[in-house]
Amino acid sequence: MAGPSPALNNTADNLDALPVTVLKGVGPRVAERLLRLHIQTVQDVLFHLPARYEDRTRLTPMGAVRPGQQVVVEGEVELAEVRFGRRRSLLVRISDGTGSLTLRFFHFNAGQQAGLARGAGIRCYGEVRGTAAAPEMIHPEYTLISTDAPPPVEETLTPVYPATEGVHQLTLRNLTTQALAYLGEQADERTDGLIDWLPAELIAAQRLTSLPAALHYVHRPPPNAPLEQLAAGRHPSQQRLAFEELLAHHLSLRRVRQRARQLSAPAFSGELPLLDDFISGLAFSLTGAQQRVVNEIRQDVALRHPMARLVQGDVGSGKTVVAAAAALMAVQAGYQVALMAPTELLAEQHFRSFGEWLEPLRIPVVWHAGKSMGKARSQALQAISEGTGAVAVGTHALFQDEVEFQRLGLVIIDEQHRFGVHQRLALRDKGRTGGQRPHQLVMTATPIPRTLAMTVYADLDTSVIDELPPGRQPVKTVAIGQERREEVIESVRKACATGQQAYWVCTLIEESDVLQCQAAEKTAELLATSLPELRIGLVHGRLAAAQKETLMSAFKAGTLDLLVATTVIEVGVDVPNASLMIIENPERLGLAQLHQLRGRVGRGSRQSSCVLLYQPPLSEQARERLAVLRESNDGFEIARRDMELRGPGEVLGTRQTGEMQFHIADLLRDEALLAAVESAAGQLMELAPGHVSPLIRRWLGEAVNYGEV
Ligand code: ADP
Ligand code: MG
Repeated sequence: MAGPSPALNNTADNLDALPVTVLKGVGPRVAERLLRLHIQTVQDVLFHLPARYEDRTRLTPMGAVRPGQQVVVEGEVELAEVRFGRRRSLLVRISDGTGSLTLRFFHFNAGQQAGLARGAGIRCYGEVRGTAAAPEMIHPEYTLISTDAPPPVEETLTPVYPATEGVHQLTLRNLTTQALAYLGEQADERTDGLIDWLPAELIAAQRLTSLPAALHYVHRPPPNAPLEQLAAGRHPSQQRLAFEELLAHHLSLRRVRQRARQLSAPAFSGELPLLDDFISGLAFSLTGAQQRVVNEIRQDVALRHPMARLVQGDVGSGKTVVAAAAALMAVQAGYQVALMAPTELLAEQHFRSFGEWLEPLRIPVVWHAGKSMGKARSQALQAISEGTGAVAVGTHALFQDEVEFQRLGLVIIDEQHRFGVHQRLALRDKGRTGGQRPHQLVMTATPIPRTLAMTVYADLDTSVIDELPPGRQPVKTVAIGQERREEVIESVRKACATGQQAYWVCTLIEESDVLQCQAAEKTAELLATSLPELRIGLVHGRLAAAQKETLMSAFKAGTLDLLVATTVIEVGVDVPNASLMIIENPERLGLAQLHQLRGRVGRGSRQSSCVLLYQPPLSEQARERLAVLRESNDGFEIARRDMELRGPGEVLGTRQTGEMQFHIADLLRDEALLAAVESAAGQLMELAPGHVSPLIRRWLGEAVNYGEV
């Protein structure tokens, strides 16, 4: 990197160390409120970026306004009167010689009413409603002006900032004006106090706008700024900042990975007779992709540092066997394994599969979940703490305080999109034995494209099982309206008559568990009446673990024909003989979730079908979602479309965990930047490691210091 590093010269003049209280109008009370917006320093003010813009730089003649427009108009009050209708309101007619406009206020005080008297000059900004012939504004922002000498209109587009109670737009605009002044008049390369942490070569290679210029532009875009481009976040100034923000996020995760290399973990190397026996004992042979991933894991765990590997694989690609293979590597070396699944139902199923696979090899598998009770519970806890329980399967209850592993060597997390980085790190630390951390293997069935994965999961090494077991046929998917429910019931009858099995999934928009279960109960009753010859089971979230287990085993063993269920069966459930799936009200679910559900069938060699039994009329978006599902069986493609429709945060689960919340970047829109972000991160870590922390702090704040333990 050229020149001495400004990072080493961290004086109080640097805006990242200058408290926001140096700005006029920021006393202790305002400072406290600003904290809610994560604003503590002048730099934080500069990086509190507008969420959108309004154009108040020109006046629109009232004769030219159209409903839907946001405009500034200026004129005189012609008439003001209070109407006593269903709601009391103040109506003010204003005109400017080209036309007139009605303002409507439902909340107003005597002072406002007095000010808006006939003949008063007024300028207002708001959205035009009503009709072109009779335009209106409801509660516009307005100021009373002198029509002889009106104040100048705004010179720049008006930024609208994310605000919080007690900190209004005007305050934020005032603060950003002051903060921008610290950046200096001219937006040149190096300004007082705001350090550009990106290497000059990188800025040149990426043709990035200079940082101060970009900040000036996004906070105060000139009147001729391209509004549409700005609204889409695609202006070069915004892209410059988005690049830096993505880089900061990426670096924060890369640092987690870098720190992992400084931690120690048990190395599992050498011969693996248990693994060989296991693989040769399977009823099938591993696919090439499974073999490759098993080898990748094998190389990781042979090192003396904790593995952090993500296995992505479409639903049905066979991730569970790969997990079992990894478990055997730890067991062979005399270490314990914890396998954790997000739901009890899925955990139980893993418990069953692992039992079937490992017990012939004389490897004890124990069960522990939140609902375990009494003797079973204490025995499991004892086996785990004494080390006789080689493999413990369960829910997150496995990581509660009362659970003590004797020698934990590997943690496997299934369906990881529900766990965040924080939780993964906490697990790793919780599982330490002496100075050693366990290896970690996480498995996800919401596969995402490589570039995105490199960013979102930059703390993990990724493997992809990009091949389905042989003989699988894509699930045939049709969408059918509720009015044809009888036909669908007939198709279930026919399928089951030929020895096939079916799922009937009831969904409800209500979050309430109780309502979900009631709906499923009712559906099960109705189906039992229509299909008296079938053996029907019902599973939902409120059944006791043992009941669920019994039902699932019965379904798996083929003693039930039809399983009515809530979305508890969404993840992981594996009954290869089931070949028909009915999903009620699919329009209420996200695409990735529907793909997961559908993935419960198509696991055997038989042609399977999925019926999306929707409630008409469908919204445009719902129609589009169902079409994607009918047209594609590819989890990568479906995840991408889901992210386009619902946003990456929803699909990746980062919204719930609070991760990857961006000020300005957008993972999908800015996907083209990601490859450059990745290589920039490598450069920066190597050439200017001192720049990494301040860059992360600038964008993610103090709160997010992953792995700073
Ligand atoms: P997922 O990746 O969705 O978790 P599973 O691990 O549940 O998939 O595997 C789906 C089904 O495919 C299971 O019945 C499993 O036994 C079977 N399976 C896994 N690998 C193979 C293979 N190589 N050949 C044939 N069947 C396989
Ligand atoms: Mg699975």
